[in-house]
Amino acid sequence: MSRKVEENCGCIEYFNDNYQLHNEVGFAAIRCSNPNKQYWYINGKIHREDGPAIYDSSRKEEEWYFFNLKHRVKGPAVDYPKLKEWWKDGKRHRLNAPAVIKIGVSSKVNEYWEFGKERKNI
Ligand SMILES: [Zn+2]
Repeated sequence: MSRKVEENCGCIEYFNDNYQLHNEVGFAAIRCSNPNKQYWYINGKIHREDGPAIYDSSRKEEEWYFFNLKHRVKGPAVDYPKLKEWWKDGKRHRLNAPAVIKIGVSSKVNEYWEFGKERKNI
């Protein structure tokens, strides 16, 4: 169960009985500074299993977290239009493919990471 708090400024937050951000059925926070950006929390930890825990619908920006750690099994845990990052259990990680892809106007930068360590010799 969670309790909804709606501020006059437009901030919306859901809390559990310990006053931690918490919502089991939807986002737990929206800030008035950007109403298009949702934050999903379980018992104070940023967490979502079936989608991005931070989602900005106007900028098409996704960040996937599993209990405060960046993590996504299939696909990049940081999924922005011009930046993709693969994370596993809070560490940049991807085997046999770039774990970071930065897309510039006329260039693309790839970085290779395994278990949180960058590999330069590829
Ligand atoms: Zn506010």
